Amino acid sequence: MANNDDQFKKVISHAKEYGYVFQSSEIYDGLSAVYDYAQNGAELKKNIRDYWWKAMVQMHDNIVGIDTAIFMHPTTWKASGHVDAFSDPLIDNKDSKKRYRADVLVEDYCAKIETKIDKEVKKAAKRFGDTFNKDEFIATNGRVLGYQEKIDGILQRLGKSLEAEDLADVKALIEELEIADPLSGSRNWTDVKQFNLMFGTKLGASAETAMDLYLRPETAQGIFVNFLNVQKTGRMKIPFGIAQTGKAFRNEIVARQFIFRMREFEQMEMQFFIKPGTQGKWFEYWKETRMKWHLSLGMGPDNYRFHDHEKLAHYADAATDIEFKFPFGFKELEGIHSRTDFDLKAHENASGKKLQYFDHEENASYTPYVLETSIGLDRMFLAIFSNALEEETLENNTTRTVLKLPAVLAPVKAAVFPLVKKDGLPEVAKQIIEDLKWDFNVFYDEKDAVGKRYRRQDANGTPFCITVDHETLENNTVTIRHRDTMEQSRVKIEDLRDIIKKEVDVKNWLMKMK
Ligand code: ATP
Repeated sequence: MANNDDQFKKVISHAKEYGYVFQSSEIYDGLSAVYDYAQNGAELKKNIRDYWWKAMVQMHDNIVGIDTAIFMHPTTWKASGHVDAFSDPLIDNKDSKKRYRADVLVEDYCAKIETKIDKEVKKAAKRFGDTFNKDEFIATNGRVLGYQEKIDGILQRLGKSLEAEDLADVKALIEELEIADPLSGSRNWTDVKQFNLMFGTKLGASAETAMDLYLRPETAQGIFVNFLNVQKTGRMKIPFGIAQTGKAFRNEIVARQFIFRMREFEQMEMQFFIKPGTQGKWFEYWKETRMKWHLSLGMGPDNYRFHDHEKLAHYADAATDIEFKFPFGFKELEGIHSRTDFDLKAHENASGKKLQYFDHEENASYTPYVLETSIGLDRMFLAIFSNALEEETLENNTTRTVLKLPAVLAPVKAAVFPLVKKDGLPEVAKQIIEDLKWDFNVFYDEKDAVGKRYRRQDANGTPFCITVDHETLENNTVTIRHRDTMEQSRVKIEDLRDIIKKEVDVKNWLMKMK
């Protein structure tokens, strides 16, 4: 694909054209940073959620799943620190009147320096050929080291000033780096201000008695306030985890990257309750385990990296992001946070209810520490979808658009075609659909030439196409075609279920985590 911008545009238009993602309320010109999942998108999203749930809940004896309400008592958000501290530093450009996140402007500046490093690496790789050692080059090349030092210096200063709430220094940094408005090129900036990201709403019928509420900005707090209920009713012993998936809402300042940053999105979170003092060990454990989950989907280790936080959130004593190489560069996909006992203690203080665990082995009560894994379902969707979309040049110099979704997540597992619309072939194809639909989401198509139907399914991400032809009537065999290799083979109808199952079975994919 030509360049990253073009590729991202293709991703967005492909997502619409093939029924994956639509702009919300499109007939009214849409709503900014709000999206709807269409017929295929809803399936893909559900499959990603199930893949996460199975790995986190079903495969761990000591993790259970819950589903808490979006509305929570307003004190929750005071206690959790969100009312006072859940804000982003914003800056306006006085000329263009555009609003930006000040930290993102600085981070994007650093990302540009990073592309310079990439260029140096590429140049050197070309020059040295097979003998090129990338790690050694990065560790020793003077120019690369200079760039890296600059990035580290900038990010350290940004982290420090944000932590100290020194917003004047964040502005000074933007001015010193001569960062311009990416749209207008102007450097005429306002001061940096904090902007709270929570959406407020009201509960109750009359204006006088209505209660001010927030739409939850994360699902985690629903887990914390239920910690003791789950621990007691589930007889959970530390270490144990509580997981949930669900909607979260944030009034994001800048939201222009399709489903990467939305105002209404879905999270998949797990809070792991542990003995204080063991957080270092569990932090490493969950870093490794979550990375294995990502790698099990086969998108390749080069697409992921860890990014340890310089600036820690108000609740954390260690934090890292799993970043993914999106079409617009490496960006956060998942956060792994060591949250200490901040949340449980805060809710204990605010509610006056004890949220402690009695440890029978120690014969003592304590407030557990918490390790959190938090991934955005929509971001995971974007990672998978954008990575899967390819424009392939074939041997005969024609191109095909193919969506190489991991088969386990593909919305439709197999499409079944009669070669022609007569001679009893549609009836046989429909019978195959009837048999397979107990196990898989399958699709029947009889329109257009079979080659065209193959291409439609390639672009839709369907791993298998099954074609019924005249030979089928003689010996009960069909052609099965694989999306990625386009290889075709003749198989018995009775074997179809097992052939498909082998490729799409969650177990076979999750086993790769072992
Ligand atoms: P960012 O720095 O990108 O704003 P964050 O650090 O605020 O993200 P967390 O609060 O750690 O994010 O949320 C956990 C996960 O939820 C993120 O890793 C991301 O995948 C997802 N997420 C957060 N905000 C959004 C959003 N506005 N739209 C979609 N997904 C989001």
